[in-house]
Amino acid sequence: MTSKHTETSFTYEKAEHWPPYTYRDYPNVTPESLQAFINFLATENTSSERKGLQPWIPFCTIKCNFCYFPTELLSNSEMGRYLLALKKCLNIYAETRYARTSEFSEVYLAGGTPSIMSTQQTIDLLSFCEQKFNVREDREIKITGCTHDFDYKRLKALSEYGVDQLDLGVQTFDDDLRRMFNLRDTARMAEETIKTAHKVGIRVSIDLMYNLPGQTLNAWNNDIRRALELNVESADCYALDVYPGTKLSEQLQSGILPPRGDQEAETEMYLWAYSTFQKAGYKPTCHNRFSRIAEDFKDPCFETLGTGAGFFMGTLGRFSYVDVEPAEAYIDAVNRGKLPIAKLSIGSIEDEMRKMMMRLYIRLPVNKQEFRRRFGMLPEEAFETVISRLMKNGLIEVDEREIRLTKLGDVWRYNVCWEFSRLDADAL
Ligand code: SF4
Repeated sequence: MTSKHTETSFTYEKAEHWPPYTYRDYPNVTPESLQAFINFLATENTSSERKGLQPWIPFCTIKCNFCYFPTELLSNSEMGRYLLALKKCLNIYAETRYARTSEFSEVYLAGGTPSIMSTQQTIDLLSFCEQKFNVREDREIKITGCTHDFDYKRLKALSEYGVDQLDLGVQTFDDDLRRMFNLRDTARMAEETIKTAHKVGIRVSIDLMYNLPGQTLNAWNNDIRRALELNVESADCYALDVYPGTKLSEQLQSGILPPRGDQEAETEMYLWAYSTFQKAGYKPTCHNRFSRIAEDFKDPCFETLGTGAGFFMGTLGRFSYVDVEPAEAYIDAVNRGKLPIAKLSIGSIEDEMRKMMMRLYIRLPVNKQEFRRRFGMLPEEAFETVISRLMKNGLIEVDEREIRLTKLGDVWRYNVCWEFSRLDADAL
C-alpha cells in the first residue's frame, strides 16, 4: 500500500503532539494565586462560553505500557472514600457564585478509568452532578473507559440514565499490539463492547493510536477499516508519544520492541486516516478527531470545572488548574476543607491572546472581529511576523473575517500553535 499525498510540501522536522499552555507548564499554587482564584469564584459568570463539568476518577485496574497519565492502581477500599471526597469538593465548587451563575452543557466522567466504578456509583455520581449544578436539559453525558468494563447490563442501565456517549481507549484492533501495550482484553472483546453500546443506543467514540512499534501503513489501515466497519461515531487518532519512565519507553530502548516509523511515516499515517475517514463521511474536528457526531461541530466547552486527584483540565476564566495527587493527598486536602489545587496558572492578556490563536489546533477558525473586541487589535497586529510566516509556508489562510488552517496546516496544527507561543515570535 502506498499513499500519494502532496500536502507535505512544507514540513517541520518533528510534529508536535500537544499545544502550548498545557498543565505541564503551570506554576505551583501559592497562597496569593489561590486567593485570587477563590475571589474569582465569588464573582458572577458573565461569559457565554459553553462549559463542561468533569469529575475525575484517577484509578485504573492495570497500567498500560504507554501511559504517562497520573493514574493509580485501585485498592479495594479506596473508591468509596475517594468518591466521598470527590463529591465534597464538587459541592464546594457548586456553592460558589461562579458555578451558581453558570450553566453546564456537558458532564464528562474522565480520568483514569471512570468505568472502574460500579454502575450504581456511576449513576450516583452523575445524578449528584445534575442536582448540584445547573446542567442544561439538553446536556450530553460522556463516560471514558476501558472496553473490558462494560457488559450489556451496565450499558443498558447507563443508557436508561441518559448517558450519550462512551469514549473507549481501544488504541488498536491488532491483538499482538494490544498485548504489547498491556491492554487487558482482545480486539474481539473490544468490538463486542462497541456493538453492545450501539444496541442500547449509546454512541461510541474510540481512541486509536498510530505509528506504533513495527506498525506498517497496511496495519494502520486495518485498524481504520475495523473502526469503519463497526460504525463508530467518531475516532480520535493519536500518533504514539513515548514518554520517559513508561514501560514502553524501556521496551523500545532495550530493543525488545521494533522501532517506530520516522516523521515521514507518521505524517503519511495521519494523512491516510484523514482521507479514509473523510471518504467515509467523517469530518476532522477537535484535537485529533474524525467524527460524524453533530455535537462535535458546535463550539467546544472552553471552560471546564472539574476536580479529582491529578485532574489537569481545569479552566475557568483566566485560571487553569491541576489538582493534587495521589488520591490519599487529595482526600486529605478535601477533608481539611481546602480546594485541592497543586498548580494554578493565571493567564495574562498576552496569554489570552495566544490562547485565542490556539483555537487553530482544535481546527476552529479565529474570528478576527471577536479578537479585536476582546483585545483592541487585530490578530495580524498582535502577531504580524508569525502570521505572515505561516501564510508564506501555506499553513494558514487569512481573509477579512477569519484565520484558519489550510489542509497542510492541519497536519502541523500543533506546531502552528507553538509558533504563536514563542516569546520572540510576535510583536506583543
Ligand atoms: S486505562 Fe487509560 S489512564 Fe489507565 S493506564 Fe491505560 S491509558 Fe492510562
